[in-house]
Amino acid sequence: MARSTLNPISRNACPACGSSEVVQIPGGSVLPAILFPVESDRAADVPARAVRAAACCECQHVFLTDLDPEFSENLYANYYNLYPFKALETLNAFYREPFNRLLPVFCPPGNLSLLEIGCDEVEQMRCFLDQGYRCTAINPGARECGDVRFIDGYYGSTPVTGNFDRIISRFNLEHIVDIDGFFEQLHQNLKADGIAIMQVPNAEHFLHMGVLNMFAHEHPHYFCRKSLAALISRCGFEVRFLNGVTEPSLICAFGRRTGGSYDPSARIGGLMQVVSEVCAFIGRSDDGVVLYGAGLSASALLYSPDFQARWYDRIAIVDDNAVIQGRLMPNTPLTIGRPDDQAFESGKSIILTLSQQYHPAVIRSLRARGVAADIFAISSGGFKAVVSDC
Ligand SMILES: [Zn+2]
Repeated sequence: MARSTLNPISRNACPACGSSEVVQIPGGSVLPAILFPVESDRAADVPARAVRAAACCECQHVFLTDLDPEFSENLYANYYNLYPFKALETLNAFYREPFNRLLPVFCPPGNLSLLEIGCDEVEQMRCFLDQGYRCTAINPGARECGDVRFIDGYYGSTPVTGNFDRIISRFNLEHIVDIDGFFEQLHQNLKADGIAIMQVPNAEHFLHMGVLNMFAHEHPHYFCRKSLAALISRCGFEVRFLNGVTEPSLICAFGRRTGGSYDPSARIGGLMQVVSEVCAFIGRSDDGVVLYGAGLSASALLYSPDFQARWYDRIAIVDDNAVIQGRLMPNTPLTIGRPDDQAFESGKSIILTLSQQYHPAVIRSLRARGVAADIFAISSGGFKAVVSDC
């Protein structure tokens, strides 16, 4: 079990989403360090403490607010090993099967490197070893053993070197006090295109089922679907998969953020600039142009306020799709032609108005047929001349 005895998180804020809108949960039973029945020689004098918890008004995360590092230390050193089902949560079919259903999608067979946090059993990692993965695992007390490289320590405080294609944590995150330290370490260990998968108990499900107590001293966190997503996002990752609120456990696959910021209004403004640029180009092209692709980019040009009706004469439009050949662009005299040799024999400049992913094949095909006209492309990079040999 990965765990830190430090508690740097300000308990004035939600450790999942960071909101300061938190409310104390009434109650606070005094619970023993272990809630499972123990042998008679251990049953007396089990240390006990009040459990105090708060809930976030923003993401509904529930978390313990009055942690005592010494009590936790004692719990893990002397009582946690009394749980007879150490790996039960992971190996129980109830939890294992939903996890295994994700494997074909996120853990395909291959020569991938994988780190499992909070694991010290080869058997638990059999599903990854069977995929051909190179496996490392970290857990306090873990011993070097055959197929898996084990590291004895706490993830987030014990240094772990290396970059991994996959990082797995099953029923571990709910134990972590220094959750920010945990995710900082994850940033260092996950490859740029890597995927991490975290599985935690679903507090929302527990409460919905009417279980009278969900608290235990070893669990400072009680995630719901919203709070798990909020935590992963706040820690700089992007959720790729997250299962439903009615499941007994939550499973989230995530990776690094991709694509940068998305500002549709600024982006559309930029595209209007490109439309003006292309219209100005058509206006200057006395010999005319061929628009290759009767799709959305062509429509942006033909219906732009910058487009002039007198330019129809200088425009030919072609498309590879036989279904639309012979038809006309609405409200124009422009008939969609076939992109045959005749269409290009005039030597008019060609503007690629079809989707960017088709550009390389179209350019290769035109050049292979000996079409020598200048080719311009409209793509994510704007409106640009195509370098002849690409
Ligand atoms: Zn929150």
